[in-house]
Amino acid sequence: MTKRITISEVGPRDGLQSIAHILTLEQKLAWIEAEAAAGVTEIEVGSFVPAKVLPQLADTGEVVRRSREIPGLTVAVLVPNAKGAAAALEAGAHKLTIPLSVSETHSLRNVRRTHAQMIEEARQISAMIAELPQEQRPHFEGSLSTVFGCTLEGAIPDAQIARLAEQLRDAGCHEIGLSDTTGYANPAQVRHLIRLVRGVVGKEAVTGLHLHNTRGLGLANVLAGLEEDITTFDSSLGGLGGCPFAPGASGNIVTEDLVFMLEAMGIDTGIDFEGLMKARAILREALNPEEPLYGFAPEAGLPLGFAYAEARV
Ligand code: ZN
Repeated sequence: MTKRITISEVGPRDGLQSIAHILTLEQKLAWIEAEAAAGVTEIEVGSFVPAKVLPQLADTGEVVRRSREIPGLTVAVLVPNAKGAAAALEAGAHKLTIPLSVSETHSLRNVRRTHAQMIEEARQISAMIAELPQEQRPHFEGSLSTVFGCTLEGAIPDAQIARLAEQLRDAGCHEIGLSDTTGYANPAQVRHLIRLVRGVVGKEAVTGLHLHNTRGLGLANVLAGLEEDITTFDSSLGGLGGCPFAPGASGNIVTEDLVFMLEAMGIDTGIDFEGLMKARAILREALNPEEPLYGFAPEAGLPLGFAYAEARV
């Protein structure tokens, strides 16, 4: 098993886009800074979508510029198209992710684009990146969303998933991510899809999983991913952004619980649990009081005798 895992915090993007309350720039930065101080090395800080679509994320450009000042932090963003990518490059994001819904119905509903149009967007983004000097080029990920099933189409055929993974790779994506947008995934399916997509684009191009905990299988799916040598897991602090149709279920898997599980298993995350709890308090303060935060480890605390995989500084 891999000994060092990267946890990519996506709360400032995936969590905030799911709730109506709008955080101020300073509140977002306080949250991001607290997580970086706890040892989180990658944070998806926002999404370059029109402000009228997601007013919660309207200040993403400024969040990127300010987050870049935090030493050692990889500043990641979501870009739905080439226009958003141009803004992301101008702000200086270190990592760009374009989501491609493998369900075409979902893609049309969500971003009003066909598969062919989304692949063309990815190609244009790669071309923009290629024009930058080598040292300024961000990492570019194509993320297969709804890959574990779609609320509109149900299961998506393997052949379609494989074809889209190949097209994203050919469009210039450095990495192909798997995203359980709908919280449908189970561990057997996680293994199957990692192997399927790696069979098309190569093992080194599939390193990350984006999981939700909608049906309570989030951490079980992480374990399946670990056993397939996945090295990056997305999660959100307090599982922010739980699904209104699944009461009690967090949105993304909970960063605090993920850190606890991995460290207890002897897998190094570099993240300090107490530091995360400080970040959680900052987030709690910034949210409306009725907005739920999730997580078992934050409620129960660390077990007596708990030891990190590696000593914390
Ligand atoms: Zn998500």
